[in-house]
Amino acid sequence: MRKTLLHPLNPQSLIKHMLKILLASLVCTFSWATEPAHQVIGSYSRGKIHQAHALPLQGKGFSFLSLSENRNWGSLGLIETLEKSAAEMIDFFPEFTGLVIGDLSAETGGPIKPHLSHQNGLDVDVYFIRTDGLDPKTSLVANGKLLSAFDLKKNWKFVKFLVSQGRINRIFADRAVKKSFCALYPSETEVLRRIRPFPSHEAHFHIRLTCPAESPECISQVEVPLGSGCSELELNNHLYWNLNEMLGF
Ligand SMILES: [Zn+2]
Repeated sequence: MRKTLLHPLNPQSLIKHMLKILLASLVCTFSWATEPAHQVIGSYSRGKIHQAHALPLQGKGFSFLSLSENRNWGSLGLIETLEKSAAEMIDFFPEFTGLVIGDLSAETGGPIKPHLSHQNGLDVDVYFIRTDGLDPKTSLVANGKLLSAFDLKKNWKFVKFLVSQGRINRIFADRAVKKSFCALYPSETEVLRRIRPFPSHEAHFHIRLTCPAESPECISQVEVPLGSGCSELELNNHLYWNLNEMLGF
């Protein structure tokens, strides 16, 4: 008669097996607790992202200018801010064809050409909303003045939606954009103060979030001064050219 095979999980080995599973799950829990899934590290111009989130290549109210570059990565806050603002635009302007998104960050952050920042998942470029149907990269500023194809109403609403979410640190745009917004909406101090005049932003907003509270290694940028900043637009040349603004200091 053939000998009955001993089941591999006899009471003793069963206990051993259970202990192994328990130990493994404890190790798992421990490493999960000590290594947070998602972190923003360093500064805007010298930083990286751990476990970045991706903005889908297409969504409600937005699409990308270029689908090929794999620069659709950012902090969870950045992705949520963009998706919510884009959806709010469609709800408010049902005929709106959607935002055109440029670069966020690379999947693990770090330098990407030609940007000085965009390194830690808190920066994104969004092209101005325009009425002329031209290539989104075409400048909407000439001789220091905003062209009529810049859709004042929609662009203003977009920056308002962004700022209302409470995570925006700064929005860089050409001085002509801020001038026009100052003239049209002079009492909107909280939105206006976040719009910072900066050269080479004649076709897009550069949107920057503050450091997320859950990322202690994120190096934050000084808060924007109180007040709209509208009266300084003509006088304060150094504000216009302050490179540290863009680098994030
Ligand atoms: Zn940018």
